Amino acid sequence: MTQDSEAIVGAGFKPAPTWDSRIERCKMLSQRYPSAREILDFYLKLLTFQKGLYEEIKSNKEAFTIEEAGARCDVPLLKKGLKALLPHSPSLLSIAREGPPLLATMAKEVSSWGQTAWEAAIEDYQQSAHMAQPLFFFPRALLQPYLQFALEGVETPSTMGTHCPFCGHRPQAGCLRPVDNASQRFLICSFCHEEWPYQRLSCPNCAESDKTKLSYLVAEGWPAVRLDTCETCGQYIKTIDLGRDPEAVPVVDELATIPLDIWARKKGYEKLELNLAGI
Ligand SMILES: [Zn+2]
Ligand SMILES: [Zn+2]
Repeated sequence: MTQDSEAIVGAGFKPAPTWDSRIERCKMLSQRYPSAREILDFYLKLLTFQKGLYEEIKSNKEAFTIEEAGARCDVPLLKKGLKALLPHSPSLLSIAREGPPLLATMAKEVSSWGQTAWEAAIEDYQQSAHMAQPLFFFPRALLQPYLQFALEGVETPSTMGTHCPFCGHRPQAGCLRPVDNASQRFLICSFCHEEWPYQRLSCPNCAESDKTKLSYLVAEGWPAVRLDTCETCGQYIKTIDLGRDPEAVPVVDELATIPLDIWARKKGYEKLELNLAGI
């Protein structure tokens, strides 16, 4: 483990990856890392479903009318989207049935949900602002394409909070983007996938900035993925260095690097936010 002593630099921004770039990265990493193939193949099915849903939303805007584009995503907005998204939920349940065992079991329960149960799940997920329970996979996965559509074109805020400025959720991962011969750290939302800038030397959970409490590890085999840990709150998050690997897609690379999660948990750290595979 080494200390990160690099300075914070000015903000920069690159638009979020497209569904296609996530899909292509997933296929590529599935070939490269056999140990993560099962999880990546599951995520590939999910991304393909989400891309189809996103295209449906885009081509049928009337059914998904969003009056205030770029507005903060709150429960009323999510419920509005849900109404038009619900007919697509059986496809999501089919994917979950073939996914990780816990999701497959929960898919049986969710298949009996009506609109009221879905709305309650959305409210609970939005209120907790993170994957407090595995059941939240379902509202999260179904609403992500809708949120991406709703937030298209929004400007990256300059605020540097620990929660997403658009939907209030916690970050799934971080990334370092090259800016002016240095790099700027961004956090990537676990729900809407939007990014916002964050201090280089600060824990994205408890905002600890004492550098003696913050460490990072870069594992052999994944030179662009590092594990940021905090001794104060005991949490960790992965950060993908896009300067080292410009082809990386943070939410996909985060999911592919399971051995880093195993290492972190063995050391007693807890992940800041679980990914869609529940890892
Ligand atoms: Zn968000
Ligand atoms: Zn912390």
